[in-house]
Amino acid sequence: MPGFVDAVRFLRASTRVVALTGAGISTGSGIPDFRSRGGIWTRFDPSEFAYARFLDDPVAFWTLRAALMAELDLASKRPNAAHEALVRLESAGKLRGVVTQNIDGLHSLVGHSRDRVIELHGSADQVRCVPCDVFYPFSVARAHLATGTVPPPCPGCAGPMKPGTVLFGEPLPILELSRATALARSCDVLLVAGSSLEVYPAAGLPQVARDAGAAVIIANASTTPFDVEADAVVRGDLSHVLPRLVEAALAPAPP
Ligand code: NAD
Repeated sequence: MPGFVDAVRFLRASTRVVALTGAGISTGSGIPDFRSRGGIWTRFDPSEFAYARFLDDPVAFWTLRAALMAELDLASKRPNAAHEALVRLESAGKLRGVVTQNIDGLHSLVGHSRDRVIELHGSADQVRCVPCDVFYPFSVARAHLATGTVPPPCPGCAGPMKPGTVLFGEPLPILELSRATALARSCDVLLVAGSSLEVYPAAGLPQVARDAGAAVIIANASTTPFDVEADAVVRGDLSHVLPRLVEAALAPAPP
C-alpha cells in the first residue's frame, strides 16, 4: 500500500490541501478519543450522550455529561505538534481549510487564519437553548452545573439548554456541512488525520473528494474503512507523523 513517500509526493504537488481531522489528532494533547483502548466509549455508554437521551431525561443526560466534561477538562488542553503542522501547511500557502469532527477547539487555538477551521460537530465551549435555537458561551451554564441545576436554563427564555456540540441523532449544522462539502469537492488533496471514519456524514467526505478528482491521504494509528481506496496511508502517532510529513513536503525539491 502506498505510504509516507507517496503522501509527501501528493502534498508537495498540492496547492489546495484540505485536512479532515478527528479525535486522534488531539490524543497527543491528552484528550482521549472515542474508540481506542482507554477511549471514552470504553468507560461511558454512547447512548447516554445521544440527543434522544437529552430529550427523554435532560437531568440524567446533563449529570453524566457534566461528569465527562469535568474529567476531560478541555480548557486545560493545548494544541500539539500535529495541530501546529497544519498551521505550517497554511503558512506555506497550501492549506485551504481544516474540517474537524473535534469539539475541543484546539484547531481554533493554534493560529489558523480566521474562517479556515470548520467545526462540523460544534464546540464544547458553547451551549444552545433548544426553544430559542440560540448559542451561548459555556460560561453561561457553568454556575448552574456547579450547583446541580440541570438542564441549565437559557438566560433569554429560561428554557432547557443543551451542549453546543452535535449529539448523536442530531443533524449537523447546514452551513458548516455545506462549506465542508464544498471544500472536499474543490481540494486537490484531502488529508484525513486521526479519524476512524466511522461517524457520518464526516466519514463520507473522502469519497466526495475522491469523486471530484482529489488524492486522499489517510494518516492514522489504526485502519479505517477508506484505507483500501486511499492514495496513500501513513501509520503512526500523528504528533510525530504530521510534522514529518509537512516538513518533507515543504523541503526544497532535490536538484
Ligand atoms: P474515533 O475515536 O472514532 O477515532 C479516532 C482515530 O484516531 C482512531 O482510529 C485511532 O486509531 C486514531 N488515533 C488515536 N490517537 C492517535 C494518534 N496519536 N495518532 C494517530 N492516530 C490516532 O474519533 P473520530 O473518528 O474523530 O470520531 C468522531 C467523533 O469523536 C466525533 O463526533 C468527535 O466529536 C468525537 N470526539 C472528539 C474529541 C475531541 O474533540 N478531541 C474526542 C473524542 C471524541
